[in-house]
Amino acid sequence: MLPPGVKLCAVSKFHPVSAIQEAYNAGQRCFGESRVQELLEKIPQLPSDIDWHFIGHLQTNKVRPLIGKTALIESVDSEKLLNLIDSESRKAGVVTKVLMQLHVAREETKFGFLPEELLSFFEERKFECLTNTHICGVMGMASNTDDNERVRADFAEIARVFREISGNPSLGLRGFDVVSMGMSHDWPIAVEEGATIVRIGSMIFGDRK
Ligand SMILES: *Cc1c(COP(=O)(O)O)cnc(C)c1O
Repeated sequence: MLPPGVKLCAVSKFHPVSAIQEAYNAGQRCFGESRVQELLEKIPQLPSDIDWHFIGHLQTNKVRPLIGKTALIESVDSEKLLNLIDSESRKAGVVTKVLMQLHVAREETKFGFLPEELLSFFEERKFECLTNTHICGVMGMASNTDDNERVRADFAEIARVFREISGNPSLGLRGFDVVSMGMSHDWPIAVEEGATIVRIGSMIFGDRK
């Protein structure tokens, strides 16, 4: 179903541990959660080789308990949050992998960097002060609309910003190669536009209550 090189993050938020265990038994290892409390409750009840991706808006007071628990925090939506993740990771003696969240959709989410903000963040080399955070790429969402051309344009914009950063050798970035985009209803378009991770919830687990 997914072409090689595209990884599935099974979004298990609001679904019980039993549903995650079932998907795990079928071979799935990467799961996405959007609330810290829910994630921290689920982790000890499930196998330890799961890669947990945090995909929701992360409040600064929830950073500390999350550090060391994730394979990837996909939803870094401000410099303040990034710097806090870095300082908490340093205190904990770990390196935290993150994605920078881009805001391209029409008003669906208020979170994320505008394309020009993220480009200036890199041009101004603001990543250089990080000691314990590895920025692995970008994450984004398309507008929530039936207009497929709008959706495609949003994904293309995310991919364009990614390429502008990853294709700039003077930045000296290493391991900046992830484009997380596409959900249950729009993932095929995201894959066509260059997604390397798709985040799929309801198509796998059914509707959330
Ligand atoms: C809930 C969520 C998803 C999955 O959405 P589905 O429509 O259930 O596939 C993907 N990404 C983010 C950021 C989410 O919050």
